[in-house]
Amino acid sequence: MLIVMSPTATESEVDAVIARLVEKGFDVHRSTGAERTVLGAVGHIQNSDPRFFEDLPGVSEVVRISEPYKLAGRTFQPRDSVISVRGVPVGGDEVVVMAGPCTIETRDQMFESAKAVAKAGARILRGGAFKPRTSPYSYQGMGIDGWKLLREAGDAFGLATVSEVMDASQIEDALPYVDLLQVGARNMQNFTFLKELGKIRRPVLLKRGLSATIEEWLLSAEYVMAGGNRDVILCERGIRTFERYTRNTLDISAIPVVEKLSHLPVVADPSHGTGHREQVAPMALAAAAAGADGLLIEVHPDPDHALCDGPQSLLPAQFERLMDALRIVAPAVGKRI
Ligand code: PEP
Ligand code: MN
Repeated sequence: MLIVMSPTATESEVDAVIARLVEKGFDVHRSTGAERTVLGAVGHIQNSDPRFFEDLPGVSEVVRISEPYKLAGRTFQPRDSVISVRGVPVGGDEVVVMAGPCTIETRDQMFESAKAVAKAGARILRGGAFKPRTSPYSYQGMGIDGWKLLREAGDAFGLATVSEVMDASQIEDALPYVDLLQVGARNMQNFTFLKELGKIRRPVLLKRGLSATIEEWLLSAEYVMAGGNRDVILCERGIRTFERYTRNTLDISAIPVVEKLSHLPVVADPSHGTGHREQVAPMALAAAAAGADGLLIEVHPDPDHALCDGPQSLLPAQFERLMDALRIVAPAVGKRI
């Protein structure tokens, strides 16, 4: 942390800031130029809330130098993390496609979906069994019986599985069926839940919150990692903006930003990111071109009758065409499908 004193700061104001830093456990390095004094402070992150210092007399600016997410950040782990989801490596040179319906409805629907997405080249089957619906009157999901169908359909077509876990009480039940535990956007800052996910050894797909900054998102990843579970995959799923032609605004720029700040894999969800079927493929291609390590895409054999998110779900034939296009785009950025 750097504390820049104002040009008019008095010597006793500088001394008072140094005293406060020392009291908070910092080593202080003073440099006095012709214009102003700058104090370099090295110490424990717990005491580095800039507000402790910003309002002291004579302080002009407090600049944080190191990022607060030590485990998720690149500083101490420069190399990319490659996370194995039941043997499927996420974060390497493959753009890993996770696809399937928003919600698990019937056995036929899951088997048809799994067959279609596996044939087109997806590696992980998605499907929600516990759904975080905005209205309590909307379909809430099949529960554990849904996870059983997800596992069966995944096994039948050689796909790993991803599904949302809504709270800590569901983690244990999910483990036999779900290879990648999804934390929904609405739960990104449920810190007690994140701590529980830190205690297990199963990869976590951490969706970005509806209005979360990238730093908040990485700090949520840090919660899981600080508990000992280092297998976190980030998922950009669109943020809420003033725009109404899309359900959310898929923040493609978050992909290169996260790539620079963190060694964790980052995938994009253009289905929730746009909310409209015709916008999904262009944004999926854009995310791949921006360097995404994977994609989470809703596909339904009969989207017009889907219980959840039909309008943003691709038909199997559309998904197949998207996969063909991804096979052209991915190599342009050194990746493959
Ligand atoms: C989902 O993937 O079905 C879902 C509900 O996502 P999100 O948490 O991003 O809204
Ligand atoms: Mn959905």
